[in-house]
Amino acid sequence: MEILEIIDSIADVIFENKDYLTELDRAIGDSDHGVNLARGFKKVKEEKENLESLNASDLFNKVAMILISNVGGASGAIYGTGLMKGAQYLKGKEKIGIDEAIGLSQAMIDGMVMRGKALAGEKTMLDTIYPAVETLINKKELKLNDLLVEVEESSKVGMESTKDMLAKKGRASYLGERSVGHIDPGAMSSYLIIKTICEKLRG
Ligand code: ADP
Ligand code: MG
Repeated sequence: MEILEIIDSIADVIFENKDYLTELDRAIGDSDHGVNLARGFKKVKEEKENLESLNASDLFNKVAMILISNVGGASGAIYGTGLMKGAQYLKGKEKIGIDEAIGLSQAMIDGMVMRGKALAGEKTMLDTIYPAVETLINKKELKLNDLLVEVEESSKVGMESTKDMLAKKGRASYLGERSVGHIDPGAMSSYLIIKTICEKLRG
């Protein structure tokens, strides 16, 4: 499975869910999360020809740059920084096995936390990503397809858990108690992204 093929599917899923993500952001943000991501991934699709020849590290870097300059908002900077750190990790690596996938995920989380300083439980995209990566690490001995099912499930549970959380980071934090009772839009986009990656890798 080519990385670019996965990115292409992620773009399609973002387009399909653009209105839904924006709707979630209407409740606790400024109604633009789906619009922001769709704008960024549209640009990624437009650049596809220029991405085809790149190695994994350069591909991550290029997509990072495209998202940072086209998504805007908190999510563009945070996803973009995650990808940039991922690119650094991938430099010189030719094969991505399970241990590399773990290293890559951890590097990306480091980037996202470096940029946004979000801890677990603060009602952000990290509340989807942390449990998914935790499962990836703890269950890495499982058969690949089973592992991917579990990772996807953990990301779903994480995403759903943001509904009852009080936002401590980003725009939703301005709402205080009123942020409770709504799924975080970034947690939903991260879930859709992880679900797509898992589905594609399961084949
Ligand atoms: P903006 O909030 O600038 O309008 P978006 O609407 O595109 O940007 O993205 C909002 C999402 O970004 C939130 O739902 C949340 O998941 C994520 N987010 C915001 N601030 C942070 C942060 N400091 N760390 C991690 N994620 C964050
Ligand atoms: Mg927003």
